[in-house]
Amino acid sequence: MTEIPVMEARTDVPAAEAAASGAANGAAITPEHPVVVLGGGPAGLTAAYLLAKRGQPVVVLESTGMLGGIARTEVRDGYRFDLGGHRFFTKVKEVDDLWHEIMKEEFLKRPRQSRIYWNDKFLEYPLEGMDVIRKLGLIELSRCMASYLWAQVKPKGREDTFEEWVSNRFGKRLYNHFFKTYTEKLWGVPTNEIRAEWAAQRIKGLSFFSAAKAAFFGNKGNKIKSLISEFNYPRFGPGQMWEQMAKDIVEHGGEIRMNAPVTRLVTDGSGRVTEVIAGEQTLTPSYVISSLPLRTTVGIATPDAPAEVRDAARGLRYREFLTVLLVIEGQDLFPDNWIYIHQPGVRVLRIQNFKSWSPWMVPNDQDASIGMEYFCFEGDELWNMADERLVKMAAAEIEKLNLAQAANVKFGFVARVHKAYPIYDEKYAQRVATIRRWLEHDLTNLTQVGRNGLHRYNNSDHSMLTAMRAVDNILLGTHHDIWSVNVESVYHEEIHDSENPYATDPKPPAMDGPLASEH
Ligand SMILES: Cc1cc2nc3c(=O)[nH]c(=O)nc-3n(C[C@H](O)[C@H](O)[C@H](O)COP(=O)(O)OP(=O)(O)OC[C@H]3O[C@@H](n4cnc5c(N)ncnc54)[C@H](O)[C@@H]3O)c2cc1C
Repeated sequence: MTEIPVMEARTDVPAAEAAASGAANGAAITPEHPVVVLGGGPAGLTAAYLLAKRGQPVVVLESTGMLGGIARTEVRDGYRFDLGGHRFFTKVKEVDDLWHEIMKEEFLKRPRQSRIYWNDKFLEYPLEGMDVIRKLGLIELSRCMASYLWAQVKPKGREDTFEEWVSNRFGKRLYNHFFKTYTEKLWGVPTNEIRAEWAAQRIKGLSFFSAAKAAFFGNKGNKIKSLISEFNYPRFGPGQMWEQMAKDIVEHGGEIRMNAPVTRLVTDGSGRVTEVIAGEQTLTPSYVISSLPLRTTVGIATPDAPAEVRDAARGLRYREFLTVLLVIEGQDLFPDNWIYIHQPGVRVLRIQNFKSWSPWMVPNDQDASIGMEYFCFEGDELWNMADERLVKMAAAEIEKLNLAQAANVKFGFVARVHKAYPIYDEKYAQRVATIRRWLEHDLTNLTQVGRNGLHRYNNSDHSMLTAMRAVDNILLGTHHDIWSVNVESVYHEEIHDSENPYATDPKPPAMDGPLASEH
């Protein structure tokens, strides 16, 4: 890790004294006026860790009873569940060094395997020629070929939608097998409401022939960035990293307050946050590092942010997901970390198998623990479905997929992930810019960091990097532009491009809810 010479941790120095040397950027950091960190996810914890390590008074306020935010690890009866499956892979050395500094020998190197599940079969991903022939069968392959040729002879004249764009290039049959259901489940709208431009951007460079060529001759020289073959993973899941960071923060004199939803950010006329209010608690910060969603930060500003800023915040959209976590007795389902479900007739999009992530995620040798992932909008039918029904549905679907018997499900529960994906709709950049201008003018001692904090698809490495940069700005007086720390942040998530998929922007039910939120 790049050490910061003057600020290196001196745990022998009382905090106030250390603080006197701190804050190159103006306000003095003292125990009465600590740096207040909003949110105990990867970004918030990173900021607090670096500040505490340097002897700076810091208090983290986390609304829930768990650390790690979207990257938390749920634990039940010794079984550990990762929400979404978090690979620790980064090109940023500082972040990699920090991860190793925290995890030490508990940071495992794990192989990646993920396949497509279709028609009760596993297909290698990326496609492999003989595998495709075997799994599709010669008859289906000929049908796909005929359907492709038909599309070449009689292509749809207009290409306004994802459906038209893909069918023209791959034929209707392949479109139906491998594009339609997955895309609809992912985005929550029919593929004729997904824009053709988005398909063009997303499937750039891929055609029937390039896919066929890759299937038969491999994908050499064109390594798909998402296909990282190895990654790091804490022995007991990502939660282990956040637990360790929390211990280190406290050991260095920092404070973490759980179940402390921040409800108000009080600003004075001079453009500073003077009070942070979390229920009954009031803190008077020197600086605030906030990983709260932009929507929330705007919503809790007191006095109210200007109307145009509140409107911009209200316009930000998010896509949610929920995962039904099941323990299945007496069997391991598949060796993959996760599989993509392209089979029609089920609502599940992806299935994680936690034993493949790390054998230590499961407390015995016999059982499997899995995460069945469903994408939704907060407040829609799936999101609002009772947990018991969701568990039943997931158990029925795993049986329908012929992966396990529903009767072997020992227990299950549901984790809902709020604001999992900030949506890049047509006007999001404008909205973010409006909010940013207001922040820079009216809340000058507050820095937004992280994923939803910047409304960007930051993975945990870049979420953490934004926090590292924010700490530098406070302690060293650097002027890193936090909003531009994301250059390659989209390389290994599944939803990964900066184009708007929606022909008509969706209206997630939660948009009409209050701006202030505990999530
Ligand atoms: C499906 C999925 C898969 C992913 N896979 C990977 C991966 O493989 N590798 C990877 O590196 N990254 C991955 N990510 C991204 C990673 O999860 C995020 O980058 C990271 O969690 C963002 O950290 P954060 O601290 O910015 O935000 P969050 O994790 O959202 O944390 C914010 C925290 O703020 C708290 N909070 C919210 N409101 C309040 C309030 N009012 N008061 C107090 N506290 C509040 C929340 O409870 C939460 O703890 C994935 C994300 C998703 C959705």
